[in-house]
Amino acid sequence: MLDIRYIRENPDVVQTVAQQKGIEVSITDLLALDGKRRALLQEVEGLRKQRNDLSQSIPRLAKDGNQDEVEQIKELVRGINANLTTQEALLQDVEQQWSTLLLRVPNIISPDTPIGASDEENVELRQIGELPQFDFAIQDHVTLGETYDLFDLPRGAKVAGTRQYYLKGIGLYLHRAVQQLAIDLLTERGFTVMDVPMMVREDVMTNTGFFPLGREQTYELGRDNAWLVGTSEVPLVSYHAGEVVDVNQPIRFAGVSNCFRREAGAAGRDTRGLYRVHQFAKVEQVVICKNDPAVSEAILQEITKNAEDLLQLLELPYRVVAVCTGDIGQGVYKKYDIETWMPSRENYGETQSASNLLEFQARRSNIRYRDENGQLQYCHTLNNTAVATPRILIPLLENHQRADGSIYIPQALRKYLNGLEEIKPGA
Ligand code: AMP
Repeated sequence: MLDIRYIRENPDVVQTVAQQKGIEVSITDLLALDGKRRALLQEVEGLRKQRNDLSQSIPRLAKDGNQDEVEQIKELVRGINANLTTQEALLQDVEQQWSTLLLRVPNIISPDTPIGASDEENVELRQIGELPQFDFAIQDHVTLGETYDLFDLPRGAKVAGTRQYYLKGIGLYLHRAVQQLAIDLLTERGFTVMDVPMMVREDVMTNTGFFPLGREQTYELGRDNAWLVGTSEVPLVSYHAGEVVDVNQPIRFAGVSNCFRREAGAAGRDTRGLYRVHQFAKVEQVVICKNDPAVSEAILQEITKNAEDLLQLLELPYRVVAVCTGDIGQGVYKKYDIETWMPSRENYGETQSASNLLEFQARRSNIRYRDENGQLQYCHTLNNTAVATPRILIPLLENHQRADGSIYIPQALRKYLNGLEEIKPGA
C-alpha cells in the first residue's frame, strides 16, 4: 500500500502507474473520498469534544443547584449524540469506500522498469549457459515422463481434474532432490528455512497484497474462512505482521510449501504437461530489510543470484529479463524473471521471479523497525523463487536428454538421489 500522503502529493504519478500496470482505479475518486473522510473525521472529533466538554460541566452545575442549566445541557448533549450517530455512520461508509479504493492502488515502479503492456515487452538482460544442440529427434518432458514412468498426467486428471498429476518413482525423487538442493544452498547462505501454514486468513491475503486483485486466483475454504496460499511468500511475510523487528541484519526466510493456484484466465494456455498446474511445490526466498532503497536493491540482486546459482548447479541455460509494467503486478516496484530454456517449447519459460516491493507489503502488514533516530519505519520486503517444481523438471529432463534415450543427472543432484548419474531404459 502506498502512503496516502504520497498519493495526495503525487496523484498524476500514481494514476499513470495504475494505467501502465493495467489496474483500474481512479485516483481522483480516491482523493475526493479522502477529502470527505478527513472533513468527517474532523467533524466527528469536534462533536465528540463538544459533547465531552458539556458532559463534564454537568456535575459542577448540578452541585451548584443550576438544575435548569443542567437540563438544557443534557438536551444539547442528546442533540449532539444524535448528530454524532449520523456523522459516524457516514464516516464509516466513506472509510469503507476509501480503503476499498486504496487497496487497489499500485506501488510505484523503479526508474529502470520497462514500460509495456504484457510479458512480450519484458527486456532481456543476460543469457547464461549454452543452449543444447541436439543431433537427434528430441522428446518433450511428457514423453520422457511416460517413458520412464516419472509422472502420470491422465490419472491426475481422472482423479482431480485438469492440470493435476501424480509424480512417481524417480519423478518424485527428482522433485524432492531439487527442493533439498535449494534448501541446503539457502541454509548455507544464512536463510532460516521454514515449513509454513498453507491455509491462511483473509486479512493475511489482503495485507500481503494478494487481495483484492488476486482473489480470483485463490482457492477458498469457505466453511472455515481460510484460503490456500499460492506461494509461501504470504505466510513468510506475515510471520512478523504487526511487529517491530530488528533489521540491522536483513531477515532472510526460506519457505517450503505447496502452492495452489486456480489459474483463472489461463484457460487453453500451457495445457500440455507440467508447465501450468494447480498444485506445485516451491522453495521461496523472502527478505525483510530496512527501507533503504540501496539495501533492498542489493538484496534483489542477492536473491536473484541465489536462483541463478541453483540453475547453474542444475546445469541449465537460462536468461534474466527485466519485467515490464504490464507484467509486474500491483505491489511490485522492480522485478526480474528468470527463464530457463525449455527445448520442447523452443523458448525460455519462467522458472523464478524476483521482486522488490519496497514498503508496499510492510505498510499493509504493519511490519516496522526503529531507525537510528528511534523513529518507527516500515520495512522493505522482497521475494524470489529458489526453485519451483514440477515446472523445473521440464528443462531438467528436456535439456539433459541424450541420443541413446537416457537422461543425464547433474552432479549437484546426485547426492540426493543415491548417486544416480542417469535415468536410462531398464534402470
Ligand atoms: P510466482 O510466485 O507467480 O512469481 O511464481 C514463481 C514460480 O512458480 C514461477 O516462476 C514458476 O516456476 C512457478 N509457478 C507459478 N505458477 C505455476 C503453475 N501454475 N504451475 C507450475 N508452476 C508454477
